[in-house]
Amino acid sequence: MRFVDKVVIVTGGGSGIGEVSAERFAEEGAQVVIADWNEAEAERVATKLNEMYPRSDGGIRAIAIQTDVSRDGDVVNLIAKTLQAFGRLDVLFNNAAVILPKYLEEIEESAFDRLIQVNLKGVYLTVKYAIAHLRQTRGSIVNMASLNGITGQRKNPVYAASKGGVIAMSKSLALDYASDGVRVNCVCPAGVMTPLLEAWTQQQADPKATVQALNDMHALGRPASSEEIAQAVLFLASEQASFITGVALPVEGGASLGY
Ligand code: ADP
Repeated sequence: MRFVDKVVIVTGGGSGIGEVSAERFAEEGAQVVIADWNEAEAERVATKLNEMYPRSDGGIRAIAIQTDVSRDGDVVNLIAKTLQAFGRLDVLFNNAAVILPKYLEEIEESAFDRLIQVNLKGVYLTVKYAIAHLRQTRGSIVNMASLNGITGQRKNPVYAASKGGVIAMSKSLALDYASDGVRVNCVCPAGVMTPLLEAWTQQQADPKATVQALNDMHALGRPASSEEIAQAVLFLASEQASFITGVALPVEGGASLGY
């Protein structure tokens, strides 16, 4: 129970890693804000958390706030409503992101701009408006990056660049906010077997070979589960990581080892 009476924002909390992390935060006592541009999915997750983890004091466990993290006004609203509902903010988990697995010359300028707006500007905006409140609680920020932000990845240059940007920004913010007691870290997964990736493998010409290739990428012989990524997120967000700031933690089953 590392997050009793703590208030946590999870962007992109409406599915995948964000949803599982939100569940774990709630399970460990947090009040959770599900911030996702997909309103229906955000509501679904908040309702589920309220049912699964009712608070003994009758208070609200989770709320959904429809948010496009790339829009200034949406993020201002997100932080204001969080404070209104729960009165404080302890953890900001920036998880909302979009993907763009294409060669650079196939990528339209508008798609490039959109990805950078969500994956990088989204982090800038949430931190910009959350930091004053995180200072008050000596809270922490966890940003979802990716192994490809460190190593690069074939056919994924713009996404990898955005995650490299998230890593560099996180390290810089860790320096800027250390004296306020606010820690900033990121998590760098390789393959994560979310429902979306599972569905994608089944749509490929040879699903079995696709799954095998995905397994072979990782020294541990398989991709991570969302649960395994969530565990790293909760650790970095918690007091257990009180002396850890500015790290880009690989949670990648040895995918970056050897050559
Ligand atoms: P993962 O495999 O990383 O969990 P998903 O695509 O399942 O990936 O989750 C990403 C989440 O981020 C989705 O719920 C999606 O709706 C959300 N999201 C994407 N773009 C934005 C955005 N601009 N603002 C807020 N949420 C977003």
